[in-house]
Parts: sequence; structure tokens; C-alpha cells
Amino acid sequence: MRPDAPLTSLKGIGPRRAETLGKLGLFSVGDLLRFAPRDYRDYRHVLLAGEAPHGQDGAFALTLCSQPRLARIPGRGRLNILTISGQDASGKLTLTWFNQPYRQTQLKEGQQVIACGRVDRSRGARLVNPTLYPALPGILPIYPMTRGLSQSLLRDAVRAGLEAASQDMPELLPPSLLARYDLMPLPQALASLHFPKDLASLGHARRRLAFEDLLLFRLMLASMGNKRKAAAPPLHGDEALATFLTLLPFTPTQAQYRAMGEISKDLCAGKAMNRLIQGDVGSGKTAVAFYAMYAVIEGGGQAALMAPTEILARQHYEKLVALFGPERVRLLLGGMKASARTQAWEELSSGQAGIAVGTHALLRQEGMFFYLQLIVTDEQHRFGVSQRAAIQNKGDTGVHVLVMSATPIPRTLGLLIYGDLDISILDELPPGRTPVKTRCITGKRRRDLYRFLDSEIDKGRQVYLVCPAIEDVPDGGLNAVKTYYEDIAKALLPDRRVGLMHGKLKPKEKAAVMEDFKAGRLDALVSTTVIEVGVDVPNASVMVIENAERYGLSALHQLRGRVGRGAAESWCFLVSDNTSEAVQKRLKFLCSTTDGFAVAQYDLETRGPGDFFGSRQHGLPTLQIADLMNDTRTLHAAQSEAAALLAADPLLESPAHALLAAQVQQMFDKAGPMN
Ligand code: ADP
Ligand code: MG
Repeated sequence: MRPDAPLTSLKGIGPRRAETLGKLGLFSVGDLLRFAPRDYRDYRHVLLAGEAPHGQDGAFALTLCSQPRLARIPGRGRLNILTISGQDASGKLTLTWFNQPYRQTQLKEGQQVIACGRVDRSRGARLVNPTLYPALPGILPIYPMTRGLSQSLLRDAVRAGLEAASQDMPELLPPSLLARYDLMPLPQALASLHFPKDLASLGHARRRLAFEDLLLFRLMLASMGNKRKAAAPPLHGDEALATFLTLLPFTPTQAQYRAMGEISKDLCAGKAMNRLIQGDVGSGKTAVAFYAMYAVIEGGGQAALMAPTEILARQHYEKLVALFGPERVRLLLGGMKASARTQAWEELSSGQAGIAVGTHALLRQEGMFFYLQLIVTDEQHRFGVSQRAAIQNKGDTGVHVLVMSATPIPRTLGLLIYGDLDISILDELPPGRTPVKTRCITGKRRRDLYRFLDSEIDKGRQVYLVCPAIEDVPDGGLNAVKTYYEDIAKALLPDRRVGLMHGKLKPKEKAAVMEDFKAGRLDALVSTTVIEVGVDVPNASVMVIENAERYGLSALHQLRGRVGRGAAESWCFLVSDNTSEAVQKRLKFLCSTTDGFAVAQYDLETRGPGDFFGSRQHGLPTLQIADLMNDTRTLHAAQSEAAALLAADPLLESPAHALLAAQVQQMFDKAGPMN
């Protein structure tokens, strides 16, 4: 069967089931075969009922030693529970199922079963909702789930798919590569990915698939890179730099100065620039990017600046206007009146205005530039590679590209994601900053905390209070932002001006709140993480983060970066009542350092790159990438093979590379449309 056959061509999958699978992004048989399990259960060996500790997941060979009993759970409506006892030579386990009354007729005293599940010793010794098998099932895959599916259903579908199509999946890797790196052929790798016979073959399979993904990914980046080698008219970067520095209200740090020099060189070189400015929160990336924009408009070209949020776009707009004057800058936001937008675009397409600022929707908008020469993205880690591809697709060849990222990236991941970019690093903070003091506290001390906030406000400072989003209300225990605003923040700061900011506000309302906070008309701002990135109010000195356990360290570090932007002492309080050891350890770690690199590295090691970036950030399935992080040899091998391949066949035109080329193109196209 061809891998692009629809899922309905598999036995047991009708249109409705296919639709459900579509929610997981699975449409063809090939999609299904490449759908990586998120975990596995090892049911190769029999465990003993009397010995397995609480929480242990395993397979038990039991003889059923009672009649099944079906009971209603009092006060819980239609909920019922079926129990039956089982035993082996070492002891007993009670098997219980909720709402599966049909099992009553299938189970009989004296029957032998393999029961697989997690041991619960909190009330007797139980297996809750175990799965029964006639024989040991081996290692079983656990897939990401969606409503209306079950693991066993997915497993059956994958089995059917493997049988029907695994031999027909196209082998992208040339045989010489398979041999050189001892990589499994694709059909075997897919079979082992889903149903490995042992852990070694699973590792082998994942390495093979990771290698392939990485190779493709590198080839895709390279094909983006090919565009950037395009010629671009040289600019007088150094002259522009001299004037720019006279406009800038402060003296640049050494690091900023160096980065501007690197950019200046790029702009003079006659080739399109493709550069990343990487620097911790507060290191002053914006000014460096503004220089690049200035050099371009001085040379008669146009520059576009994209930010991940409207708040940030407005902030940039204001700063650009302050530097270059209102005639040269246009703001473009989704929520703007059509007439205002049309006018802005008219001025951009006639060349009257030199700079466009907006969210990434900017690229999707109708207008045309007169002569777009530079695209800058702020907080690039929010956008991901696909956006970068889209930018390069949109820009004509020869457009300079500059991206800024505050999230310092551990080296291996950096190589992977930004391997095609030149990098300028801002490893220095502007002078006079004192590191933010970070403390973990529990909710019990909230009153003390607020007394402290009150005293800071007395000194004329401002404070942020971050708490989870509105959508989080139903899942309990969380301080939803509105309730928090009314019942806590306003109650505990009765005489203060407290503002509220969240994602559900209209863009105009958001802008107004932000404006009030910036202008000092608010003492405190209760907000969701919409203020996580980029917001710059130097007078704010305290950041309080409620339910801190809910965020990754990198996000917390970003939030913390909203304070400590002036010379005054600044504080960050992580409020959490979560006592789990892992959580406490993570939060304590953040208290111990203000070094963004250390934070990123720790986040990566403890939570994996999936959480670190969110899968859309890199465009690779997290499983594969996660494997690679622990396998730098494969990472480097794939990297050098991609380079060798391109050296021999830069456009992948040889027939031996046709499949690879098609796959790269597909990846590129997928990355292309903005989403
Ligand atoms: P980030 O790198 O996080 O984007 P910003 O560019 O927003 O940081 O800069 C943080 C703050 O530091 C801003 O208020 C900015 O005006 C200020 N700043 C940047 N560079 C300098 C400098 N060399 N001297 C003094 N202040 C600076
Ligand atoms: Mg910034």
C-alpha cells in the first residue's frame, strides 16, 4: 500500500475514526507509521503481586480467585465499579474497573490472565483499570491521545499500517549512509519504533529516524541559506553607525558596539545578511537592531520589524519614533482600522515611510513595500524556524535578515536551530544594573509580600503580578487572573492604582493599560504572561509570579527580566504552594542564578527541549530531537553528512537524491505558509 493512502484504506478504520485520528495530525498511512509514541510500557516480564511496590507499572500473571462484583458508587450517579481478586504465589491484587460492566460476563473464577497496569497500595493492593492479555504483550507503545481514541485502538491501527505499508515507505537515505552509520533500514526502524522487541532495538530505531529528520532539517536550512547568498547592494554601514550613535540616548556597551560592527560589515559586504543577535534579557538587543534599520533607511531602503505581541510592537514603535521621528515609521497591527492600515501601506509602498513595525501578521498583510531591504524579528524563539522560512520566502532574494533572541540556547541546540546563521552575542548588561534578587515563597506569606509591595510603591516604584490565564479557571486551585485582581491584588493594595492585563482584552484596551503603567498612572499591574516578552518599564522593581510551578524556567527568567532594568534594587518572588521536590528544586535553581545560559541549560536537562522551545519552535518532533540531545555523535554525523551531500550536489539534482529533494521541498512548503 502506498504511504500516501488515506487512513480509511486500513482495515478497521472508517471515516469517523479517520476524522478522530486527523485531530492528531494523522491523515495518511505514512503519517501513522511515523507517529512516534511518547512513551512505552515494558510488559516483557512477569512481576510478583506480593512484591511490586506502590506505583510500579507492570505485568502480573494472576489466577482470578473470586467472582466479579459490580457495584454502584454511592452518590456518583451512574458510575459503577467492577472488582475481582487475582493472586499469584506471592500475594493478591484486586482488579478494579470503572464503568466497564461488560467485563462481568467475561471474567470467571479460576481463569488465568496477564493483568497489566499500575499497582496502587493506597487502599489495599489494587490494579486500577488494568488491561488483560492472554500472554505477555512485550513492550507496548503509548501514543499522544485525543478524545475518542484509546491506546489499544491506535496500536491496532499502527499494526495494520505496518503490515500494509511499511515495505512501501520510500527509503530516503542512500544505502552508503545506512552502512556507514549502521542505521536500520526504514521498514525495520518503523516496526521497532512502535513495537520494539527490546530496548536496544528501540534505541537503534530512534537513532535512525532522528538521523533522517536531522539531515532533512539541515538540508532545509541550507536551502534557506542558499537564498541568502544572494547579492545585495552594499550599504555604507560605518557612516550610518557614526550618526546613529549620536541619536542614541546612551553609550553602547562593548558588546553592543561589537555587534553593531559585525552588522555594519555584513551590510557593506554586498551579500544578504543572515544574523542572530543573542543576548540575555536586558542586554540591549533592541538598540543593535535599530542600528541595522537605520543603516538601511539611510541608504534609501526599507526595514520591517516584527514582534510576537502587539504590546511589544507598540513599544518598539514608540522607541523608533523617538529616535527617528514619526515621519519615518509606520505601525501595522491586526486590530487597526482598515483606513489607517491602508494609509500606512500607501506610505510604505510609495517609499515615503522607511520603517514598518508590527506583529508577524505584518507579513500576511496585503501591502507591498517600495524597497524592502531588511527584515528584523524580535524574540525569534517565539516564532520558530517555520516563520523564518516564511520570511525568507516572502522577502525577495537579497533581503537582509536579522533575528533577536533572548533565550540563550545551549550549544547543541543552537547548532541545530541556528546553524545557518551568523551569530552576534551580547554577553554584557548595560552598566549600573544590580542583579534581580529572587526568592521562593508560599501563599501563606502573601500578606507579608504585599506589605513589601506597598513599601516599594511608597518609594515610587511599580510592581508586576503575574498569574495564570483566564482559561485556567476550571482546572482548579489556580489563581485565575480576574479573581486574583479583584479578591487579592485590589484587596491587599486598597489604596493603590492596580491595573489588569490579559490576553482576552482588545488590542486597544491592552495598549491603554500598558500606556497607563508606563506613564506611572498605575502602581501595580496584574497580568497574564502576555507581558512575558520584551516589555520595558525601567521603573518597575518587583515581579511577583503566582503559581510559579506552572512555568518553565526559561519563561520565569523572561518574566524576571521585566524588572532590574534600572539601577535600583529589584526583586522577583516565585509564589508556589507546590511542595513536589522536583518543582522546589527547579525554583530554587532560579533563585540561585541570574545567568540566562545556566537557566536554559538546566531547563533543557531537566525538562527536555520539547518544553524548552515548544515543538513548533524547531519544527522537529520532540522525540527525535530529545534523542539527539543525548547523542551528539549522531548530531554531528548528520550535520557533516548534510554538508557533504550539499557539497557534492548543492541543489540535490542527482537522481539518487530525488526523494530527499522532494522531502526537503515538502518540509519547506509546510514551513512556508504563516500560521
Ligand atoms: P533586550 O535585550 O531584553 O531586548 P532591551 O533592548 O529592551 O533589552 O534593553 C533593556 C533596557 O536597557 C532598555 O530600557 C534600554 O533602553 C536600556 N539600554 C540598552 N542598552 C543600554 C546601554 N548601553 N546603556 C544604558 N541603557 C541601555
Ligand atoms: Mg527585547
